[in-house]
Amino acid sequence: MFQRSSTIRKYCTTKFGLRLYDGREKEKIPLRVADNLKPFLSFYTCGPTVYDSAHIGHASCYVRLDIVQRIMRHNFRLPLLTAMNITDIDDKIITRANERGVPWQQLARRYEDEFWSDLNRLNVRSPDIKLRVTEHIPAIARFVQTLIDKGFAYRTSDGSIYFETSKYEHYGKLQKVVMEPAIATATGGKRHPSDFALWKASKPGEPFWAANFGNGRPGWHIECSTMASHVFGSRVDFHAGGLDLRFPHHENEETQSCCYHDVPDWVTHWIHTGQLHLEGQTHKMSKSLKNTITVAELLEKYEPDEFRMLCLLSHYRSAIEFGPESMTTARNVLRKFSSFFGDSKAYIDGLKPATFSAILYSPSVTSSQWYKKRSMVPQIKATQTCPHSSGLPTSVRFWQ
Ligand SMILES: [Zn+2]
Repeated sequence: MFQRSSTIRKYCTTKFGLRLYDGREKEKIPLRVADNLKPFLSFYTCGPTVYDSAHIGHASCYVRLDIVQRIMRHNFRLPLLTAMNITDIDDKIITRANERGVPWQQLARRYEDEFWSDLNRLNVRSPDIKLRVTEHIPAIARFVQTLIDKGFAYRTSDGSIYFETSKYEHYGKLQKVVMEPAIATATGGKRHPSDFALWKASKPGEPFWAANFGNGRPGWHIECSTMASHVFGSRVDFHAGGLDLRFPHHENEETQSCCYHDVPDWVTHWIHTGQLHLEGQTHKMSKSLKNTITVAELLEKYEPDEFRMLCLLSHYRSAIEFGPESMTTARNVLRKFSSFFGDSKAYIDGLKPATFSAILYSPSVTSSQWYKKRSMVPQIKATQTCPHSSGLPTSVRFWQ
């Protein structure tokens, strides 16, 4: 396997053969490293909009990405630097806060704290960098202004700013889009249905921030582009999120970021996780469908590792089916692993030497099998040799 002493510039993709499914190419491609001189590989994940408790559909996405990141870090020794945003200003947050009669900031902080607590309980490693939208408003306004100055954005009659998708010839990189002729619609003055809001003009009673192009607040897509660019620059090595974010969210992020940075591609690898649905249902878990199970409700019934095992039983891009049957399977598989590791430790601790010796010294064990078994027990001294070889030591001792 890979040596800890390897320097970061030695993460040679051809040598290690790491291939990743790419959400844009729609096939597995070799790992591409944009800048060999960079001391890290950037990995940005779209975080939640904090207006309610996270459900296990969200949790499955973050657990799966945690597994992917751990494999990258520990197996391939990739020096990841990870970031995730928290959307702490949004229509849903304002609406929910008004319904409950609490300040929107208070509501957002409460559910943000709960979200990080949920991830911690699920043993998901925290991102290296946590980003809040409301702490990056000036940077977002500058990003929007640049797109206006470059001629990619326009102002509608209500004072909002929209990105004009027809100005970007590569729109539809992640998902093919049929670009119909641009027409002015009656609602909001968008020039084309695919155009998206960069800046939403403020309405009476809503929170807003001042900008050169009018008072308002950021659109959803612009926040991720700005914050990821703020910390990682004009190239992001990995960008991840649930499959439902591929279009339009990630498409729009890529579009506006390429225009802002003047680069052909902003993200090198797009990683999307499959969605979770309940057993017997075909649609994903969603608050709007009222079929959610919160992380707290999950952990009342199951252990975090049982849920993690459920996530491991399918490819991270596949859908996950959640229910009593699939969780029983996950629990049983986890028990088998626990039993295996318990037995292994017993062998290593010398609690089951006779059994191990019986296997190791069985007359039917060939030399190649012996070496294979020996490799499974690292505590055997490296200098010890196969007892089947002539003239060599015949005893095997364990480290004390
Ligand atoms: Zn995002």
